[in-house]
Amino acid sequence: MIELNEKNSGILQKIFLPNKLNVEIYLKREDLIHPHISGNKWHKLKFNLIEAQKLNKKTLLTFGGAYSNHIYAVASAGKQFGFKTIGIIRGEEHLPLNPTLEFSVQQGMHLHYIDRTNYRKRNNKEFQAELAENFGDVHVIPEGGTNMLALKGASEITNNIDIEFDYICCAVGTGGTISGIISSQKGNRKVLGFSVLKNGSFLKTEVRNLVYEYTGENYSNWDINLDYHLGGYAKINYEFVQFVNQFKENIKIDLDYIYTGKMMYGIIDLINKNFFDTNAKIIAVHTGGIQGNIGMQTKINKLEK
Ligand SMILES: *Cc1c(COP(=O)(O)O)cnc(C)c1O
Repeated sequence: MIELNEKNSGILQKIFLPNKLNVEIYLKREDLIHPHISGNKWHKLKFNLIEAQKLNKKTLLTFGGAYSNHIYAVASAGKQFGFKTIGIIRGEEHLPLNPTLEFSVQQGMHLHYIDRTNYRKRNNKEFQAELAENFGDVHVIPEGGTNMLALKGASEITNNIDIEFDYICCAVGTGGTISGIISSQKGNRKVLGFSVLKNGSFLKTEVRNLVYEYTGENYSNWDINLDYHLGGYAKINYEFVQFVNQFKENIKIDLDYIYTGKMMYGIIDLINKNFFDTNAKIIAVHTGGIQGNIGMQTKINKLEK
């Protein structure tokens, strides 16, 4: 049976954060679903794993960078649900392995490195067929896990919200998670994403297409904010690190530096800039990613010096 105890994913935690317009933030703790298959990655994987099982596939093959939360989650899910796993990793091997890849190998994942040029072909059907031929009868899950089955899973993120709200926010990498959330809202409320990529405007097209493919609708109650990537994927600065540290100290919740930290940094800055209406209720989805913080520590130490 492919299921996790998802009772923790229902937790909505109100964040105490007094502000002039009385905007309220509730953090939806998807990070508590599982110690390793956490956050949005579980939702995105769930129906993909069920599909692999239906097709009687024994091996999952997927793609990611060396610090990918998706690679980490697939390795862990493979071990938990009895699949072999192959991770196609962008770039060259660096030893010792970083904590993300070290963990993935411990879970039994086989790592296969490809150069950046070949990596660009990752969504190409012929390239995938070639890989499948090399590795046998594999079930291919795309980079970041984003496909229609991922949208189906991500649309469940909003299932058990039992308060009324005006906004729901999440961090955006490939756009799969926000597309599922947009689909679940059926044009109601506002969905606001925060791009963690520099030059992320292409994500708006990507998300529009994904939502259309999944629902057949062109909803307009959503946007992706492009202002809080802080220089690009996994780029950080001193002020931001202070923000994440302060958040942990005051609110007692860990944020990750790549996704949820940047979303929360953006939300709070927008509150201070009076972007949200008086008394607006915001749900911010904690999509997990805490495992990546160990891998960021060297960068953080440099900044703090
Ligand atoms: C992967 C990831 C995201 C981005 O999800 P997409 O569906 O790729 O947009 C957000 N938050 C965390 C913690 C993630 O690991």
